[in-house]
This record gives sequence, C-alpha cells and structure tokens, in this order.
Amino acid sequence: MNNPMQFLEIEREEPTVIESKVRVYDYKEIYLNYSSDLASKQAGRCLNCGNPYCEWKCPVHNYIPSWLDLIKDGKLIEAAEMSHKTNSLPEICGRICPQDRLCEGACTLEDGFGAVTIGSIEKYITDEALKLGWKPDLSNVKQTNKKVAVIGAGPAGLACADILTRNGVKATVYDKYERIGGLLTFGIPPFKLDKDIVEKRRKIFEEMGIKFILNTEVGKDIQFKDIYNEYDAVFLGMGTYTAIEGKFPGEELPHVYKALPYLVSNIRHVLKISSEVVSMKDQNVVVLGGGDTAMDCNRTAIRQGAKSVTCIYRRDEENMPGSKKEVKNSKEENVNFLFNYQPIEILGNDKKIEGVKVVKTTLGPADALGRKKPAIVENSEKIIPADRVIIAFGFNPSPAKWFEGNSINVKDNGLLKINNEFEHQTTNSKVFAGGDMTRGSDLVVTAVFDGRAAAENILDYLEI
Ligand code: FAD
Ligand code: SF4
Repeated sequence: MNNPMQFLEIEREEPTVIESKVRVYDYKEIYLNYSSDLASKQAGRCLNCGNPYCEWKCPVHNYIPSWLDLIKDGKLIEAAEMSHKTNSLPEICGRICPQDRLCEGACTLEDGFGAVTIGSIEKYITDEALKLGWKPDLSNVKQTNKKVAVIGAGPAGLACADILTRNGVKATVYDKYERIGGLLTFGIPPFKLDKDIVEKRRKIFEEMGIKFILNTEVGKDIQFKDIYNEYDAVFLGMGTYTAIEGKFPGEELPHVYKALPYLVSNIRHVLKISSEVVSMKDQNVVVLGGGDTAMDCNRTAIRQGAKSVTCIYRRDEENMPGSKKEVKNSKEENVNFLFNYQPIEILGNDKKIEGVKVVKTTLGPADALGRKKPAIVENSEKIIPADRVIIAFGFNPSPAKWFEGNSINVKDNGLLKINNEFEHQTTNSKVFAGGDMTRGSDLVVTAVFDGRAAAENILDYLEI
C-alpha cells in the first residue's frame, strides 16, 4: 500500500560514502551504489506533491516522480526506459550534476525533511539496469537515408548523436581525443566520474549504430569543408577551452599551472595513457578559484600527496559558484579554504615560487547572476606561502579559425550565434551547435539538453 507520508518515517539517506582518510589514497569514485532495498525506500520518500518543481528545475526535465514511483515498486527496467526518454547520459548526470542547485534544491521536502536523493537514484537506475543487460530498444526505428556529422564527442555531441540515431539518422561523431566524453573523460577527475562509466556508454552508443572517428581534429586532420560536403547537416559541440587569466604578475612562472592541463595530465596518468604527470607530491599548493574546477584541482592535489592544499576565493562560501557537495568533500579531504581574499601577485622566480600575495575583500551588492560583487579592502595585503599554484578561473570561448570561411559567425564574446530559422541553428543554415560553445562554460546536463534539442531541430530542418 502506498504511503505518501513515508518521508516522515524514512530519513534522507545518501549512498555510503568512502571515508575521507581512506579515499584520498586512490582515484576511485567516493560514493557506492544503493542496494535495491534502500533505493526503493529512498524513492518512496517522494510525496508526489503534484507540483514537481524538481522536474522543472532539472535542465532536461526528467520525469522524476514517475521513475521514483517505478523504483519504489522495484520496476528497474521500466525506470531505465523512462529515464532515457529525457536524458542521454542519466548515469553520468546522476553522478555529477550539482543537484543542490537543481532537482534536489527544488524538491518540496528540501525544507525541513531533506530532499529525495534524486541524483543517486538516477545513477542507480542505469547502473543496475545495465548490469541486468538492459539496452535501448531501437527495433521500431525506421531508417532514413540522412546522415549527420557531429564534431565533438562531449555531452552535447553525444546527446545529439543519440537523438538522431533514435530517429533513423546515421550519426558520425568526430573528436580530436582518443576517447569519447570531452570533459567527462579529459577534465572531470575519476573520483567524481569513473572513466569506465563513459566507456560503457560508448559501447551502448556504438551498438545503437553511432560511429566514432577519434584522434581526428577537424581543421587539422580533416577539413571542415570535406565533412560539410559529405553530410546532410553538421552539429558542433566543441566546448570552451581558453583558460581565463588572472592578469596579475607572476602568472607565467614555471610552477604556476592552468587547471585543465593539470587535471588532464593527472587523468592521462591514472588511465595509463601517459607516463608523465604534473605532480603536487610534497608541495604546499595554492589553488585559486571557487568553482567545480577548483574543487577538482584541490582534491587531485590531495590525492597526489600534496603537503598542504589551500583554496583561495574572493567571495565567501555562500557565494561560491561550485556545488556545495564538492566544497564539503574538499573540506573532508583536508583542503583549507581562505574566503574573501583575492590574489594580486604570485611571488617567486624561474626556480621557486615563494607565495601568493592576496588582499582582503568585502562583498557589495549582487551581480546579474545573483552573486555578491567583491570589493578590495585597502592596506589588507598578506602573503600565503606556496610552492605550487594552480589557477582555476574558468574558461572563455575558443572559436575555431575555420568558422569564418564557412559563414559560422560568433558573437563579440566568442560564443556561437545560434537560433536562426531553427533553434540551435548557426548562421550557416546547415550547421547547428550547442553546449559550452554556445552558452559558455556550464554543466554536463545543460550540454545534454542542447544536444538533444539541436537534434530535434536538425530533424525538422531535414524534414524527417
Ligand atoms: P566538451 O565536454 O568540452 O566537449 C567538447 C569536445 O569537442 C571535446 O571532446 C573536444 O576534444 C572536441 N573538439 C573540440 N574541437 C574539436 C575539433 N576541432 N575537432 C574535433 N574535436 C574537437 N559539469 C557538471 O555538470 N558537473 C561537474 O561536476 C563538472 N565538473 C567539471 C570539472 C571540470 C574540471 C571542468 C573543466 C568542467 C566541469 N563541468 C562539470 C562542466 C562540463 O564538463 C561541461 O559543461 C560539459 O562537458 C560541456 O559539454 P560540451 O559537449 O559542450 O563540451
Ligand atoms: Fe537532477 Fe541532473 Fe538528474 Fe536532472 S539530470 S534529475 S538535475 S541529477
């Protein structure tokens, strides 16, 4: 018998998390999976409030209460089918979405009782369904004679290829890296997302008929014009990769690192793709920035055996852009936080870093994004000693040189112009785009949304 008040008896319970003193010695994911019994109980906490704000706050508008209901009754395969109706990478979003800002933040139970553990249940559904041999059923798909090229195997490109394939369009995905995933593989550390999860997804996509042409940079190894002429339409999901600089003295010193190359060097080392690695072992490390990338650098440096890791951020904890869960995980793993301090110089020379000169900040009124603007406090300079510095200030767009000769226009800020006759259509009507390269650095789930939405518009453009 259904009990809509189950949340009064059963508390929110997250999957078991590996203790921080144990987990810092390897790169394994830190959350274990639910048992079927616990997943069912936690799903049963949903009170079916009738106003599923969670669905609206989820960027892909997952049918959350419906699949929670199926899991409550142990109907795993039905839940997996339903979960894939709105999301191309549910097991990945379940792991790395900032749920506190999205679905779970909007759950009616969040105030007072603790939100339903939506992300962990979403992850559980696909992980367990795959163990049982579940695969997407494409038996009713009618093949068209259309083919579309996707440039970029990140979440936007993968989601676009997924929807095209489910509608009988042949999708071929090009990527310059040797593995699919974009930042899922070469960016987000393995302790947040095990790379085998991405490889499992690759197998599913390949079995569906998606073709991957990897190790191939468009514009270098193959010309865009050749792809453009061969296919009926093209989708671009190439991300944003220009690291934002602090523009203060000392940034170019040898032991100052940009966040993404640092993280990628470690991932390649962990995956045994490369024997070389930028290591923070035995070093006093300062990480500059307060977003998810900074948290990933903090936690990677800790796992590499840093002597100390201090994260400096110019606002307070409340106004940090990153996921609260990742800040908590960083703290548990012994990262020190220095809030309300802004770096103004990195001190040192070609051989040695001495430290980071910082000034204190106070917070003024909120900006357009709702975050309070920092203002510098005069005569508040101090030096934070450091041997290594990692800069994680986010990313600016990185438009390809070949856009210009192909009538693909960008805005003044470098993001692609889209929403022509069709949504997600660039200024070249045969070319569509989405993900970070159109909205700026954002989230996996928003890139998935864009890829799926662009695919729907490509279908309209191709009159399918
Ligand atoms: P990308 O993932 O960047 O993929 C673009 C792909 O295009 C890449 O594979 C690239 O090789 C390929 N490409 C580019 N140019 C070419 C070319 N000329 N030829 C061939 N291939 C090309 N989001 C979350 O939701 N949760 C998180 O916890 C999270 N953590 C993050 C941690 C880090 C360190 C970073 C950097 C980002 C994180 N994000 C997180 C953000 C998220 O990863 C991105 O928003 C998302 O990956 C964007 O997807 P995309 O498909 O637009 O681009
Ligand atoms: Fe929540 Fe992200 Fe899953 Fe949507 S995709 S339900 S926001 S975890």
